[in-house]
Amino acid sequence: MEHSLERTYFVETVRADFPILNQEHHPGVPLVYLDNAASSQKPRQVIEAMDDYYRRYNANVHRGIHKLSEQATAAYEGARVKIRKFINAASKREIVYTRGTTESINLVAQTWGRANLKPGDVVLSTVMEHHSNIVPWQILAAEKGFTIKYIPLHEDGTLDMDAYTRLLDEGGVKLVTVMHVSNVLGTINPVADMARQAHAAGALILVDGAQSTPHMPVDVQALDADFFAFSGHKMLGPTGIGVLYGKRALLEAMPPWMGGGDMIASVRLEGSTWNELPYKFEAGTPSIAEAIGLGCAVDYLMNIGMETVHAHECAVTEYALERLAEVPDLTVYGPDVSQKGAVAAFTFAGIHPHDLAQMLDAEGIAVRAGHHCAMPLHHYLGLAASTRASFYLYNRLSEVDALVEALYKARKAFYR
Ligand code: PLP
Repeated sequence: MEHSLERTYFVETVRADFPILNQEHHPGVPLVYLDNAASSQKPRQVIEAMDDYYRRYNANVHRGIHKLSEQATAAYEGARVKIRKFINAASKREIVYTRGTTESINLVAQTWGRANLKPGDVVLSTVMEHHSNIVPWQILAAEKGFTIKYIPLHEDGTLDMDAYTRLLDEGGVKLVTVMHVSNVLGTINPVADMARQAHAAGALILVDGAQSTPHMPVDVQALDADFFAFSGHKMLGPTGIGVLYGKRALLEAMPPWMGGGDMIASVRLEGSTWNELPYKFEAGTPSIAEAIGLGCAVDYLMNIGMETVHAHECAVTEYALERLAEVPDLTVYGPDVSQKGAVAAFTFAGIHPHDLAQMLDAEGIAVRAGHHCAMPLHHYLGLAASTRASFYLYNRLSEVDALVEALYKARKAFYR
């Protein structure tokens, strides 16, 4: 693929906003950051927005009558409105702030799940899930006695949709809980189709959007997701903030999870009543600077446009898959680029993924090695671990070249 001038202009303009990228990883070795699926870097706009809050209007939200608190509340709630628009939720009341995807899924398990799941019921998931969409259901199943079933995969790492239909037909399914994009295989799952089938079978669907929301347009109404979870830190925002989207009627009917300040309408020693949505699920002082930072990250992504972000990443991923296919003894997992997000997990025959990641680090290339919080998937693939390169809007095609060059170097060192 050509390194087109247009693409170079796009990526260099974006990179100018990311101070961390312009550094040497080791003396004389530039940083090539390819660990975006774990956490993205932050543009200066996000860093400055958080800094500005602490410098100029730091105060608690919702409670104060004073100007600083009003300013903080306006920024904190303003971010919620931006997020609503970003994922096309019908109302800002459907946007619940959490600490991230993990907390969002646990919230659904501990409120909706605890209230609705009983022996004989089935939660249907997939073998490719992140631990954060497996363990909360296992913990609850041990207590409530429902069954968890898992949709298998085809050879190419896509979901076996015939098996999905069969598992739904077996009956008892109350919830389908599935990742939108795999953090290992990169597989983009057909969640709109899955939602349609789930609803026809009388089940709800929860979508783990941790790896889709940062990278492609997301419309929760078009997907018809009942719940949708994502994290700020993977989409140019800070850590400590994420979102649970839920359809309003479902959230209204769910009991609260954590109790404390802000989530109540009234408290008596005899009992309490709950605040309106979304505050019913937001107990205690929230992550204020982080919400403001996430709002700014959303502005940043919307200014560029998610179609543009996605198109750039598709170009980088396509180029990466082409170049990685040239490297002898290297296996890349997951489907081809037409069904894949910006992730390439691979193994090198005879080289431990951790050793490989260490060698790449010496060349300035930051990747991740291990099970990527998807142990069942690695087990399913017959692997203990893999090495993962993951891309974002600021990655250059030349960084793919640097990765491939470093892989050849590692190969030479190991196979000598
Ligand atoms: N789901 C997927 C697909 C992920 O990739 C991740 C993070 O790697 C998570 C969930 C958990 O996100 P967090 O650690 O931000 O809660």
